[in-house]
Amino acid sequence: MAKKKRKKRKKKAVTAAQVKKESFKEKPEAKEKTSPKRQIKLVLFTIPVLVVLVGFLFFILLRPKSKVQRAENLNVVIITLDTLRADRVGCYGYDKARTPRLDELAEMGVKFENAVCQAPLTLPSHASIFTGLYPPSHQIRDNGAYYLDQGFQTLAEIFKEKGYNTAAFIGAFPVDSRFGLDQGFDLYDDEFKEEEKFKTFDSERRAGDVYKSFQEWFLENFQSQFFVWVHYYDPHLPYEPPSPYREQFSDPYDGEVAYTDFYVGEVIDLLEDKNVIDNTLVVVVGDHGEGLGDHKEIDHGLFLYNSTLKVPFMFYASQNLPAHKVITSQVRLIDVFPTVLDLLGMSISEGVQGESLIPYMEGKRKADLVSYIETFHPREMFRWAALRGIVDGRMKYIDAPKPELYDMEMDPEEDHNIYQEERLVASRLKRDLDGLIEKYSSGTSSRRVLSTEERERLMALGYVIDSSPSEGEFSDFADPKDKIDVWYTLQVARGLQRRGEEEKAEKLYQKGIELDPDCSLHYLFLGGLYLKADKLQEAYDVFKMGTRALPESIPLHDGLAKTSVQIGKYQEALNECEAILALNDRYFNALSLAGLVYNRLEENEKAIEYLQRAVRIEPENKLLLLDYARVLATSGRAEEAIDVYNRLKVHYPKDFRIYQNLGITYGNTGDLDKSIENLKKAIELRPTALAFFNLGVALEKTGRIEEAVRYLKAYLSSTPEGDTARKRMVQEKVAQWEKETNR
Ligand SMILES: [Zn+2]
Repeated sequence: MAKKKRKKRKKKAVTAAQVKKESFKEKPEAKEKTSPKRQIKLVLFTIPVLVVLVGFLFFILLRPKSKVQRAENLNVVIITLDTLRADRVGCYGYDKARTPRLDELAEMGVKFENAVCQAPLTLPSHASIFTGLYPPSHQIRDNGAYYLDQGFQTLAEIFKEKGYNTAAFIGAFPVDSRFGLDQGFDLYDDEFKEEEKFKTFDSERRAGDVYKSFQEWFLENFQSQFFVWVHYYDPHLPYEPPSPYREQFSDPYDGEVAYTDFYVGEVIDLLEDKNVIDNTLVVVVGDHGEGLGDHKEIDHGLFLYNSTLKVPFMFYASQNLPAHKVITSQVRLIDVFPTVLDLLGMSISEGVQGESLIPYMEGKRKADLVSYIETFHPREMFRWAALRGIVDGRMKYIDAPKPELYDMEMDPEEDHNIYQEERLVASRLKRDLDGLIEKYSSGTSSRRVLSTEERERLMALGYVIDSSPSEGEFSDFADPKDKIDVWYTLQVARGLQRRGEEEKAEKLYQKGIELDPDCSLHYLFLGGLYLKADKLQEAYDVFKMGTRALPESIPLHDGLAKTSVQIGKYQEALNECEAILALNDRYFNALSLAGLVYNRLEENEKAIEYLQRAVRIEPENKLLLLDYARVLATSGRAEEAIDVYNRLKVHYPKDFRIYQNLGITYGNTGDLDKSIENLKKAIELRPTALAFFNLGVALEKTGRIEEAVRYLKAYLSSTPEGDTARKRMVQEKVAQWEKETNR
């Protein structure tokens, strides 16, 4: 169901000449505003006045612009701050905050006081930022199981087409390249930890590391035109700010925010250091907020209250945007896309659902921008009702089994549901909401609908699949409000587990399964707890129970597949991988795991087929590529293996395994010179018995016996092998050679 790229509207781009004209026009107005100083100039003409004049000129030249000036060659830096709730930032009125860099940016640029995200979930929200579309259109409804279709046009793609250098520096797994947001980026750095084959929702890295990666790239690329996305994830759970922030804040969330603020500042400082700040648009935006206990919601994704919807949102471009500008009208994250294009004088693609905020910055428009809002997380994870709503600045309506209506001017905390009292307002908003859903739904149902074939494949594996509920139906689904205690208990159990109180956590998870057997997270967390404790059979049983109860839960099948491999149930692992692929044929873990299982079962052609599919999704996954090349090499496809190793060498020039395996593979093809060269390099990086052995053998074959024996001896003294045939063979060879030379 690939969608065609939206056609560009025939809107003429603002030319450089027009931009110049505009900036020329602005000057007289600027003078007028400072006319008192001009009067002084007329009265006195002495040296002190000259000083005043010089100061005045500086003021004119350096003072922040008061108008918007479009410019087509600006660099763009978008910094997204994950899980940063607006009212926990200094410039949004929180006096315990330590966010000097965000405050300064807001002060020097344009701050939107009232910005709402369209879904309080990382992947859906970022998809809206980068496509300018609502979730019913881009179809990303939750983290983990959705993929942004290649047919959508992203901001990065537009800038890449324009010839910009495009790069993204990612803080955590929910926006990993496999979920499709990498479209249009020349570089998408989402390596969170070294040596991580299976990334999980725990895969993340600190702002400091994200920044370091950005810095490295930037120092090599700042002279080109660039479009950059920096993603800082730190304010997300668990709240564990590094020192000294840990000690300095009583609330660790505030500590994470302060730490993140520091690295926002580092980006700005780097742009300044390299003198590109004046030619760069900086956009800083939160992807969603955090419950922090409001409405009993600890994190985000379950409800649609302001705590998780309102985010900090600011624009800064020293020469092109006004400073000290605060805008109170409600705006949305889908407006980032058209605003950036508008400021750069580019045409806004037809079909973009956001609106340019430039008229707001120019003071020409003030009306609140109505927003559609949703969360499908309750449905995806718990089989509770998905929530959808509409917020028009003052009034918010949430469509749920028990509908909600709030007057946010009278009741900013959203404590008083006035749905019953204001049925007329509610039904008007409900109609508007239905209209938005109809207008913005991209044809297909938002729920993953299984094809008949997929359904049959799953049923053949023994799973019973319910018929999928259609969009908008709430019957049979619990209202998340009524289930908040289940969610709360889960969070408590997670906290216990994190603090090392596993037994208590285990009991709570078990109780959760009894109380709410339709909630996948209980099984997932309990299974994960068992896996960590090496209780493989218990983990297997829990995942098995979970997949029986919830056959459409990919994470549960994933857990069962991995555990099955660990306890040697290979066929079952393969079945689970197939079950996952029936639900999502791009699911990396299933492809990669199936490849390895087939390899263990010595069905290498199948192994290669699955590993190839996995490589297509994660082309830079080092451990996967090493596996893939190893399987190719042992299947008589040495040439292809050598290709993979050579590609790996470019990205990881210091990994001894690549040279070692490459050396062995060359040895097997008879290219002894290349074999020797690579094995020597491997030994230089890290000496291993395996490399010593293979180097010795290769040298012997080229007739360099003396050198060969030296390495074979090194093999004998370093190998952990017991009395193996290989070892005996080498011992005999060395003894024989010594006898010959002594003679
Ligand atoms: Zn997020």
